This record gives sequence, C-alpha cells and structure tokens, in this order.
Amino acid sequence: MDLNYDSNNIFARIIRGELPAIKVYEDEFTLAFMDIMPQMPGHLLVLPKVEAVTLYQLPDEAAANVLRTIKKVGKALEQAMGVEGSSVFQHNGSYAGQTVPHLHFHVVPGPLKALKAHASEKMDSDQLDAIAERIRRAIANPV
Ligand code: AMP
Repeated sequence: MDLNYDSNNIFARIIRGELPAIKVYEDEFTLAFMDIMPQMPGHLLVLPKVEAVTLYQLPDEAAANVLRTIKKVGKALEQAMGVEGSSVFQHNGSYAGQTVPHLHFHVVPGPLKALKAHASEKMDSDQLDAIAERIRRAIANPV
C-alpha cells in the first residue's frame, strides 16, 4: 500500500459527500459510519478528516479529536447493542491488513474472538439502517 495519501480513496470521497455512507455521527474533525461488511452487527468505522493513511501520520491534535469521537460513539454502541464491552482496533498498511488507505478505527460491540472474517460479507442495507438508528439515538441520549 502506498503510504502517500491518495485523495481519491473511497473514505476521502465519503468524507467529501461524493459517495454514500450510513453515518451515525459527524463533526468538524471526524466522521463515524456503519461498516458495510460488518464483522459483527453494529461494526462502526471512525475516521479523522485529515489526510493520513496510518496512525503514525496523524497529528496529535487530530488524534485527540478522533479519540474523543471513538469514546462517544463506542459508548453509544454498547448502549445501543445492549452489550457490556466493545473493541477498538485499526490496521497500519496492507502488511497489517489495511485495505482502505485513509486512517480509520474499527469499533465493534463485542470480543475480538467473536469477529467474522474481515470484509467478507455485506449486510443488508435495511438491517444496517435499523442498527444505525439505534446508535444515533444512543448518541443523542447517553445514559
Ligand atoms: P481495513 O481493512 O482496516 O482498511 O478496513 C476497511 C473496512 O472498510 C472493512 O471493514 C470494509 O468492510 C469497510 N468498507 C469498505 N468499503 C466501505 C464502504 N463503502 N462503506 C463502509 N465500509 C466500507
């Protein structure tokens, strides 16, 4: 994978609104949306809106912003899915398993041992929409 940022990668195009995504949260610095091939129901992706392929290219201030969003949506994800734990992970470079060259964090509502294979099966969009709505409601009404 080229570690020089390609501004036409699929997630850059989602950030710019050129491609669709099932968004659950967005602010000036970050975006969170449903993974269309979830490794478990509720699988979210959280992105900083900066040009970085890997975590090691991310400026510290942007890292703080994306971590804030991960905390917000991850807590809401647990609430929405009714689980007591979640996992956050990301890959740096194709050697590590990264397939989309814009830095993103996976947030999944459950243990890593319960994950399905990476990017293996698309979920029905009605099902994704229904889960996204539960997560949006939990973000709006944190307990
Ligand atoms: P990674 O392999 O860590 O780069 O993860 C990329 C993730 O993006 C995988 O989990 C894919 O299922 C997911 N993905 C790919 N294209 C899209 C898309 N258009 N919308 C949402 N998720 C996507």
